[in-house]
Amino acid sequence: MRNVQRRLLRNLRPVTRGNIMERLWAPWRMAYIDGVLGGTGGEGGCFLCAARDADDDRQALVLLRRPHAFAVLNRFPYNNGHTLVVPSAHKGDLEDLADGEMLDLMAAARDVVALVKRLMRPDGFNIGFNFGRAAGAGLPEHLHMHIVPRWNGDSNFMPVLADTKVIPQSLDDLYGRLRSGLAGEKR
Ligand SMILES: [Zn+2]
Repeated sequence: MRNVQRRLLRNLRPVTRGNIMERLWAPWRMAYIDGVLGGTGGEGGCFLCAARDADDDRQALVLLRRPHAFAVLNRFPYNNGHTLVVPSAHKGDLEDLADGEMLDLMAAARDVVALVKRLMRPDGFNIGFNFGRAAGAGLPEHLHMHIVPRWNGDSNFMPVLADTKVIPQSLDDLYGRLRSGLAGEKR
């Protein structure tokens, strides 16, 4: 009986800092995302190409565009503000990027970090790539940099994707805030 109680308590505990990192690199999660977003257009159903080609940036959650890269809010965030920075070309390997593509990729990442810092005041960021399914990439054909803002004590944020109806709404609000922030920056 005590064992059962202990197991229940363990399941109820907030997600630990370790777990959020496990999920950041978890292959099954991106596979799930691919499944959800697959067939939305783009090259071979690539959801990043679909975002790149979208007419409506708000609907596609595209935050900013540069000639060779763009930034899009992750529809299935590991944390609030989780953004993907993506080369416009459908390329899977870092070594295939031309200098101009790398520059735009890093410039887009810089702009996202600056924007999120200013508007969301995170205490830190996890920024990184997964290359290959063995490393947890769910969409290895189109490389993307994860930018995940972190807050002290954020470890229990969004432990599971329990209610997908709530998330698009909050994402839409967040998108509006970030885009307004970008517009303010340019003024
Ligand atoms: Zn693609």
